[in-house]
Parts: sequence; structure tokens; C-alpha cells
Amino acid sequence: MGLPPLDRSTLWPFEAGEPGEFYYQRYAHPTGVAAERALGELDGGEALLFSSGAGASTAVVLALLAPGDTIAVAEGCYYGTTTLFRELERWGLKHVEFDQTQAPPDGVQLVWLEAPSNPFLTMPDLAAAAAHPAPVLVDATAATPVHLRPLEQGADLVLHSATKYLSGHSDVLLGAVIARDEQTVARLREFRSRSGIVAAPDAAWLLLRGLKTLELRVRRQTETAKELAVRLKEHPRVETVRYAGFGGLMSFDVTGDAKKVETSTRLIVNATSLGGADSTMESRHRWEGDRVPKNLLRLSVGLEDVEKLWADLEQALSA
Ligand code: PLP
Repeated sequence: MGLPPLDRSTLWPFEAGEPGEFYYQRYAHPTGVAAERALGELDGGEALLFSSGAGASTAVVLALLAPGDTIAVAEGCYYGTTTLFRELERWGLKHVEFDQTQAPPDGVQLVWLEAPSNPFLTMPDLAAAAAHPAPVLVDATAATPVHLRPLEQGADLVLHSATKYLSGHSDVLLGAVIARDEQTVARLREFRSRSGIVAAPDAAWLLLRGLKTLELRVRRQTETAKELAVRLKEHPRVETVRYAGFGGLMSFDVTGDAKKVETSTRLIVNATSLGGADSTMESRHRWEGDRVPKNLLRLSVGLEDVEKLWADLEQALSA
């Protein structure tokens, strides 16, 4: 019941000259361990926290792969993930993009899926990926364990930007990896301590608090997003709506000037990021260039009243 106290200590005294469970914060801290336990239960594995989602991705590839290895990564996945892989090319890491609705290509050492992908909202063929000999990672940031538990469907690793739905209030940067294989978890834990890509106690505490309302928030966001997706599809200024059928994330293309639409909202915040209590919307073209349609808007549905959100979208679309 309740939340454990936030322990910001960086050190804990040895016991009779011997280090106890906690001794130095870079290795482990009580608030982090409590948050990892809670998240591990939700995803059905052992969770490890990292300083951000990108930090978690960095740790996975540097700890588990070797120079010369290739990652098969879902095309149209979070832009920052492929940017990171490109950054790591000079250390000998290769990647190929593939359509995650089909089987991954042969000859790769890690399969990297995203469920659903951000901002294209495709869902991976998990069964086809699980049949591949390489380990399979699912970035389930947008699905959350409320809608998807990839470890139960043959995935080896789950990754979250816990910055998003898991923490849920746009006030903490945090990443997580969940796995079942003991050796994998031990290797990631070792790499995390050595590299220092660790989560701070404050961030872990905010995750614990966010998890208390995760299911309520995500179910409400799903309900609202489903309704908005239906209405957007019928709007004359909307060309394409991408929605996975669950979760709070969607994207749609507008006719005319997307910038005019995104800057005309009053309730929906024109900002990047997603998964918070406040709805946010932005053109992804500003970040991703021609990888996405110029008129694509990504909408992260928050906890506001559905009619107020629709009224805001309608007035912005007619601006
Ligand atoms: N994965 C997905 C699907 C994301 O949307 C993001 C961030 O936008 C990340 C990973 C990276 O997470 P973070 O921003 O916490 O580093």
C-alpha cells in the first residue's frame, strides 16, 4: 500500500565491513528496485530502469551486440531509435529497416519491433518475429502493458520510454527494459552500472506513482482516441487516419497547411512527446523530414473530455 519513501542517498554504510544489498547508487537504489519490481510484474519479467528510453536502447545494443552485428529494425519506428543506430555505425553496428508486418530478414543478430510504431501506428507480426533465430525486442512504449505483454508472445526483450504513458504526467525522463532470461538481465545490469546509464531515485519514484493510475489513464485515453479517430476519418480536411485500435497515440494527414492546424489548437498543446495527461499534437515533418508526409500530425490523446478535444480539433481544422 502507498509508496515507499524516496531515498536519494548515493551510499549506504557497509554492514560489519561488508557491502549490503545497497552500497552505491550507480549499482542499485531502493526506490529504483521498488519501481523495477512493480514494472516487472506488469510486463511479466524482470525490469531494469535507465535514464531515458534512448538510454535503455543504447544499453541494449552496446551490452548485447558486438561490432559487425546487424539489427533488423521496423521501418517507420520512433525516429530517435534509427538516429541512435546511425550514430553507432562508426562503432561497427549495422542496421537494416524492414516492414514489421512481415517476417524479419535473415542474417541479423537482433530484431527490433515497435508496437504500435510511432508515428505510423503499424503493429508488428510478433509470431513471425518470434520464429526468427535472433532475439526479438519490442518497443512497447505506445502500447503499454495494459494493451500488450510482448514477453508472453515470444519476445525476448520489452523496451519502454517510461517518460511517456508509464510515468504519465510529462514530468520525468526514464527508460526501461524487461526480460526473462537471467543472463540477459545480468549482462544489462552489469553494463548499466559500468556505463552509468542509470535512473535517478526521483525518476523511479515518479514512475511508481504513475503506475498507480496507469490502467485507468490508458483505458480512458483509448476510449477517447477511438472516438476521435472515427470522427477525424469523416472530417473533410483529413486524408488519412492512422490508429492501431487501442492506446492514445494516432496520426493523421490534413489537406492544406499542417502548421496552421497545429498552431491553432487551444486545449491540445502544440508540443512534442506523448503519453501524458495533457493532449499534445505536432507535425512530425519538422523532425523527421521526408521520412513522413509533410502534412502528418501526430496526436497524443490525454485525459481531457472527448467533446472538448473534438471541439478543439474541429476549430483548429477550420482555422
Ligand atoms: N521509443 C519510443 C517509441 C519513443 O516514442 C521514444 C521517445 O519519444 C523513445 C523510445 C525514446 O525515449 P526517451 O525520450 O525517454 O529517451
